[in-house]
Parts: sequence; C-alpha cells; structure tokens
Amino acid sequence: MEISFTAIQQLCNVCTATGCWHWKGGVASGGVPQMRAGPGTGPIKPVRAVVLQMLGKWRQGDHLIATNTCRSRDCVAPEHVCWLTRKELQQRTAKETRYGECPERRLAISKVQRARSPRTIEMVREMRASGLSTRAAAKVYGCAQSTAALIMCGGMWKDHQNPFAGLGAR
Ligand SMILES: [Zn+2]
Repeated sequence: MEISFTAIQQLCNVCTATGCWHWKGGVASGGVPQMRAGPGTGPIKPVRAVVLQMLGKWRQGDHLIATNTCRSRDCVAPEHVCWLTRKELQQRTAKETRYGECPERRLAISKVQRARSPRTIEMVREMRASGLSTRAAAKVYGCAQSTAALIMCGGMWKDHQNPFAGLGAR
C-alpha cells in the first residue's frame, strides 16, 4: 500500500466531533495500532510512529513512545499523535490514575525499600524521639545529614498505615 495520510485515514473511523482517527486495522498485543510500513514484506510498525515520521516530527534521545494527546487507545490522527519518553508517559498515567497515591501500593513499595535499608524502624523511632539535631543524628546513626533530616521530618519512613501520615512533618 502507498502510505499517505489519506490511505491511513481510509483505514480509520473518523470521529468528526473529536477529530480522532480510530484505527480499524491490525493491532499489536497491547492494542497498539500497527501497520506494514513498506511495500510487500516491509516491517510492521506502530501506526502512530509512522504518522509522526510522515509529519517529520522527530525527537532526539531517550526511548520514545508514539502516543497521542487525546488518550484514545486506537486514535492515529496526525493532529493527535505525539512522542513521549517512557518517563513522561509514566508520569502522565500516574497523574491520571493517581496510581502513585494509592495507599496499598505505597505500603507495598515502602516494604521493599525498608527491607533494603541499612536502618530499621526501631532505629527510626529512636532517632525521631532523640531530639538530636539532624547533624548529630547523622553522626550517631551513620547516615548522611540529608537522610537524617528526611527521616526525622517524616519524608522517609512514612507511617503509611497512619491515616494522618503525609499531612505534615511529625
Ligand atoms: Zn484522537
């Protein structure tokens, strides 16, 4: 197939209200629209990447993912496609789903982090109750002053099961 915007559009259901081009063709296992980008046995590529390439939009560096601004799973409209890095995409998704704010998830993450930490919860409680300055605490407990400060103000070793955790320094 000759690749043109018209040819791609013909493989889509165009939504006049949103301007989305909903892809009717093949998709990858994750539902990402894909197409054969060359004649005959040419490589299979994500449609959004092909569209971005046709638009002459390139971003250097990082591992870029062709996505869109409308959030539609199957939209490949030239007006909606964009490149994001994996990190940007994760940040956008986290913002939308508030995934990072889920208390169960935070607790699960903190368990892993605590298991790796050279300190224990007992040390942390002792440190907080000590009334020491962060500089003195760092010396006594053998950590960086910045770490001591974070621990003592509750930025690290948060009490995730406490409903009041995160409301301020404790
Ligand atoms: Zn769209």
